[in-house]
Amino acid sequence: MCSKCFSTNYFIFNSQTDFENFDKELNSKLKNNLTALNCGKSYKEVYFDQYQCLHCMTIWNLSTPDNAWRGFFIDNESISQHIDNIKNDDKKKGLIGLLILIIIVGIIVYLTIIK
Ligand SMILES: [Zn+2]
Repeated sequence: MCSKCFSTNYFIFNSQTDFENFDKELNSKLKNNLTALNCGKSYKEVYFDQYQCLHCMTIWNLSTPDNAWRGFFIDNESISQHIDNIKNDDKKKGLIGLLILIIIVGIIVYLTIIK
């Protein structure tokens, strides 16, 4: 990270406008400060494009937002931990969904037996 590229990670783009503003900044820096490195890299089925700062050599990873997916722009040091966190959150949401389904089925079975 340096003053020529970006001073912070964007762990999430909160809105499409947030992303569009970021995208403008990225494109303006692509001319003199950043270069595209790899397209379509992946880690645990999360795909992202890589850019490298020509001054501090930091490798940045960009995942663009798409519907419910909010994307990110983070450096190489933080990416695997960030994706691990996203995957763990998804697992928890899946377990909560399964638990709710089991409770609903339990209530239906209970009401059917009572009648
Ligand atoms: Zn830099």
